[in-house]
Amino acid sequence: MNAFFGIDIGGTTINIGIVSEKKQLINECVIETQPEKGPEQAIHRISLSVGQMIAATDKNIDFKGIGVGLPGLLDIENGAIIEASNLPGWQNFPIAQTLNLKTNIPVFIENDANLAALGEYWMGPGNNAANLFMITLGSGIGGALLVNGKIFKLHPSAGEFGHMIIEKSGATCTCGRKGCLETYVSKHGLISLAKEKIPFFTHSALNKYQITDISPQLIAHLAQQGDELANVIYHEAGDALGIAISNVINLTGVSLVIIGGGIANAWELLYQPLMHSLEKNVFKALFENVHVVKAALGEKAGFIGAARLAADAVSI
Ligand SMILES: [Zn+2]
Repeated sequence: MNAFFGIDIGGTTINIGIVSEKKQLINECVIETQPEKGPEQAIHRISLSVGQMIAATDKNIDFKGIGVGLPGLLDIENGAIIEASNLPGWQNFPIAQTLNLKTNIPVFIENDANLAALGEYWMGPGNNAANLFMITLGSGIGGALLVNGKIFKLHPSAGEFGHMIIEKSGATCTCGRKGCLETYVSKHGLISLAKEKIPFFTHSALNKYQITDISPQLIAHLAQQGDELANVIYHEAGDALGIAISNVINLTGVSLVIIGGGIANAWELLYQPLMHSLEKNVFKALFENVHVVKAALGEKAGFIGAARLAADAVSI
């Protein structure tokens, strides 16, 4: 039987898994990234884990490929990381070549948000739906459009769904432009909404906290307890998310939308304003077919998608 390694490299942890061609998750482990020690050291530790996992696996399994998910800007063709803000010092590092030399297995890289979508497509609620849109809500926002099971984009730097402009004179985004989706429904966006509105809701429990102690989880917790401001924040975030997703649906006709990331855990707070926004903004003929579901694979989506990337790459 053939199997593939999927490796999801984040700023804090690296998730490594083995997935068979029959969609069995054979083994998995998590190691620390320790990005400050540089990419060579991290690749050395990854290759040690890969070696140990191969030694612990049934000898009848052939390892055909390794897929690696990375944040930031990548040179996918050459398997190199160009730059990533949460992996400082890893600029222009030939990650695929370095890992291939240590493991002797072909290595393929891709953007982590794209791989989360590929993972949910393969083993999550995507359930091999030919076309889907996935959006991941976390510190930032990642997204990917899958067309016929493949990541669709016409340029490697495209697919910045978090920087879709929702409000032309909105708040300034980390990218320098105004009114991006990230200014509403990322971690930073939710906290900024709280900061902006607190003076107008003097009875809100959020007044009791320092702004540095406010998190999406705290706002969600207070919203569930009935705090008006906390509910207004999630309502506004869900509405903004609905506008962004409506634009994607109206433009492409995609009908399955999967939402993942830590902020999607406040599903019951986001879902209603989101669906209301979709109903208002999506063309009727398209809206009738739309399904919005929560992602199912959590932290595993990235490495499962990475394994699928390798499976697709070697089958060509
Ligand atoms: Zn932006």
